[in-house]
Order: sequence, then C-alpha cells, then structure tokens
Amino acid sequence: AKAAGGNRFEIADADSNARVIARHSLTNGLPSALEKGEFFIEYQPLVRLTDGTVRGAEALVRWLHPVHGVLGPDQFIPLAEDTGLIVPLGRWVLEQAARQAREWRDAAEDDASLRVNVNLSPCQLSHPTLVSDTVAVLENAGLCPSALCLEVTENDLIGADETALRPLRQLADLGVDIALDDFGTGYSNLSYLRRLPVSQLKLDRSFTRGMQRAPADPVDVKIVEGIVSLAHTLDLAVTVEGVETAVQAEHLRGLGCDTAQGWYYARPGPPERLHTLALADAS
Ligand code: C2E
Ligand code: CA
Ligand code: CA
Ligand code: CA
Repeated sequence: AKAAGGNRFEIADADSNARVIARHSLTNGLPSALEKGEFFIEYQPLVRLTDGTVRGAEALVRWLHPVHGVLGPDQFIPLAEDTGLIVPLGRWVLEQAARQAREWRDAAEDDASLRVNVNLSPCQLSHPTLVSDTVAVLENAGLCPSALCLEVTENDLIGADETALRPLRQLADLGVDIALDDFGTGYSNLSYLRRLPVSQLKLDRSFTRGMQRAPADPVDVKIVEGIVSLAHTLDLAVTVEGVETAVQAEHLRGLGCDTAQGWYYARPGPPERLHTLALADAS
C-alpha cells in the first residue's frame, strides 16, 4: 500500500512539475505574443432559433504558440489576467472583431445587421478607459454601437455597486448590447438582475446538456422554462450555449429561447465562414 501511495505521489508530483514549467513558459512568451502576431480569433455563429438565420458571431481568441501549437483561451486568459496583458489583448480582440463585423456588413448588402460578440474580462471592466476605448474602436471601424455585444460573466458583476457598473451602463446607453455570460453558474437573484444594464442572458451549457437527446431531463426543462420566463418578463433575450444536437435545438426553440450557439450549427472557425453561412441564409 505504501509503495502504491509513493507511486501515486510521484505521478502527481511529475504532473504538477510539468504544469509549473508549462505555466512558466507560457507566462514568458505572453508579453511578446501580441507584438509577434501570435493571437488569432475564431468566430462562432449565433443563430436565431425561430428561423435559423445567422445573427452574428462570438469572437473567441486563440494563441498560436511557437512551441505548444494552438492554445485555447482557458489556457492563457487566466495568465493574461494575472500579468495585466489582458487589457491590451482585450483591446486588440475588440478592434479585430469590430473590423470583422464591418467587413461582414459590407459584404452582405441586403443584410447589414450582423453583429459581433466580444468577451470582457473583469480587469477590462474596471479599467478607466473601457468606455473611451470602446467608442474609439467603434468609430474607427465605422460600426454603430448596436452591432456590438459585450459579454460579461455573472460572477464578474456580483457585488458590483453603481460606481463599478457605471462604465457598462454608459456603454449600454450608447446602444452597445450587454450580455450576461455563463448565466446560472453563479449566484444571482431576481432583484439583482434588474439592476444590471444587461439586455440578454447567455444560459450556460450545463443547463442544456440534459436536452441533447430525447427524452429530455424533465428537471432541466423546468429550469430552462423558468429562466426564459423570468428573462422575458425582464425584457431580456435568451441565448443558449452548447447546442450540439438537433433534438436539443428543437427543445430550446420550443421553450422560447431566442438565440443559440453550438457545434450543432458550427464550431468556432475563421471569419470567412460566417460570411458564407450568412449569405446561404439570405438566398
Ligand atoms: P465562453 O464565453 O463561455 O465561450 C463559449 C465556449 O464554449 C467556447 O470555448 C466555445 O468554443 C465553446 N463551445 C461552443 N459551442 C460548444 C458546444 O456545442 N459544445 C461544447 N462542448 N463547447 C462549445 P473556448 O473558445 O475554449 O473559450 C473558452 C472561454 O474563454 C470563453 O467561454 C470565454 O470565457 C473565454 N474567452 C474567449 N475569448 C476571450 C477573449 O477574447 N477575452 C476574454 N476575456 N475571454 C475570452
Ligand atoms: Ca462568452
Ligand atoms: Ca458562456
Ligand atoms: Ca465560460
């Protein structure tokens, strides 16, 4: 038993060493990655459930690391937050996404309503130039505020007082859409939701997983039903994440969800692909 325990310990230790080394090597490369152009953005379509049309896409950042290959945001966003790089990186993502939305709109002559969603980290939320940066980015891209949706997580807003919420409120007043991301995973109460300058909820994947196949999990159905009814009462649109099957899409449409995102429609991909999907709908 002792030997086995020792073994486990070694394995665990080697593993955590590897993690420390990996973390160290990523942290070292991070500051220069932006200058070197190692980041890129994939876009995942947002689809209107009632008629299946593409409404826009969420920008999801990736890092093409010279040694480790393509890294997902979960592998480097926390590091970027710790090191402060998230502010310039987040600004870069916003610039790229705004430019991209402008291109989609220019290309789709008859449908100039495609929108782009961009994730904001808590460091960006509390950064003094959030509002002026965002306005400048929109102006430079020639994009109206309503073409942009900023996604903030429920957890990042918990405990935020009026002062902390002011920048978001200013952006919302300008016409920027604000979405509450990963909704349902944090602590939220009804009265709190009312105070937030948000116009949509993005329901976390964990709530829709039970509907991937028929019969759907009855408890999940009830929960989603309740959230949709609450959201609509508060005039909030509901986007569902992680839609992977046709059965799930049909369920969620039936429950009154407004917009869907997930592998069933498309995985995150290059910006040109959204254009193709949106044009396909228009014809
Ligand atoms: P998120 O905002 O909740 O984004 C949705 C995540 O779910 C994405 O993971 C997406 O690829 C994945 N996904 C989409 N459809 C499906 C599906 O049908 N099934 C499953 N299993 N997964 C699906 P990704 O791209 O790895 O991004 C992870 C997180 O990283 C994002 O979660 C977001 O919080 C953060 N992130 C991404 N880009 C940025 C950024 O530019 N700035 C900041 N601050 N955070 C970002
Ligand atoms: Ca998001
Ligand atoms: Ca989410
Ligand atoms: Ca998330």
